[in-house]
Amino acid sequence: MTLYGGIEAGGTKFVCAVGTGPEDIRDEIRFATSTPEETIPRAIAFFRPYAAELAAIGIGSFGPIDPRLASTTFGYITTTPKPGWAQTDFVGALQAALDVPIGFDTDVNAAALGEHRWGAAQGLETFIYLTIGTGIGGGAMVEGNLLHGVMHPEMGHIRLPHDRVQDPFEGTCPFHGDCLEGLASGPALESRWGVRAENLPNAHPAWELESSYLADAIINFTLALAPQRVILGGGVMQQTHLFPLIREKVQRRLNNYLAVTEITEQIERFIVPPALGNRAGIFGALALAQQTFHG
Ligand code: ADP
Ligand code: ZN
Repeated sequence: MTLYGGIEAGGTKFVCAVGTGPEDIRDEIRFATSTPEETIPRAIAFFRPYAAELAAIGIGSFGPIDPRLASTTFGYITTTPKPGWAQTDFVGALQAALDVPIGFDTDVNAAALGEHRWGAAQGLETFIYLTIGTGIGGGAMVEGNLLHGVMHPEMGHIRLPHDRVQDPFEGTCPFHGDCLEGLASGPALESRWGVRAENLPNAHPAWELESSYLADAIINFTLALAPQRVILGGGVMQQTHLFPLIREKVQRRLNNYLAVTEITEQIERFIVPPALGNRAGIFGALALAQQTFHG
């Protein structure tokens, strides 16, 4: 059996795995993300014993990144505000050390691919995967291909109606203030309410507001891309009571304009948690490796 490598490169932690899929992980390691000089060699050291057997390695990375194969900076983490990581040649460093084909995409595009291969998006061609955690990010598959363009989608930074009377919070995004991420990420919840998101009780008004912003975002993405499903992952979505709040607002605010039963009658199948749970990222990286190998 052909072996693949995967890297879930997060801003907080790295997960590296070798295997053929979710049911067959041969080896796995996780460590905190420090400097690139320390972190990338740790990943290389993990894969080195397997290098001769690996058909490809897939990397789902925090970003922004350059995923355009034809670009001179393909494989770089580019303008990230994460200290030390801007303009890091991530793929180049691995390729030089391991001589294995490498697939490179955003963490959320990789997670989307994992859900497509083994999870909640099997059999679909067009869907989105959103994570609501330390940041907010979105990946998309459109007609069977992961969506790239001038760079890659940055769905967390869209603008939404922000009623400053109802919610005077300025937002936490260092670039935009009150973009979606600035209003609705885990750190935004903590900063607005003075309590970590995981410690806000279910009855707290935070969740009504949170579901309102997420519903508006999902409506915008749905109107723009016509996804067949919207998968919501990330730490904040551990609050599973958010799902019905979000679904109800999406339906009500769309006001039957998208007259398809997927939305009007089966919304609990339209807006769903990831079937792979918090493993979507690392399994997605393996799926990316498979896709890289098979072309
Ligand atoms: P990351 O985005 O760093 O990969 P997570 O997706 O776990 O990691 O997101 C971390 C954020 O999610 C933090 O802001 C944290 O407060 C929030 N979070 C984690 N677990 C929960 C939970 N059970 N309920 C609500 N918020 C949570
Ligand atoms: Zn922003």
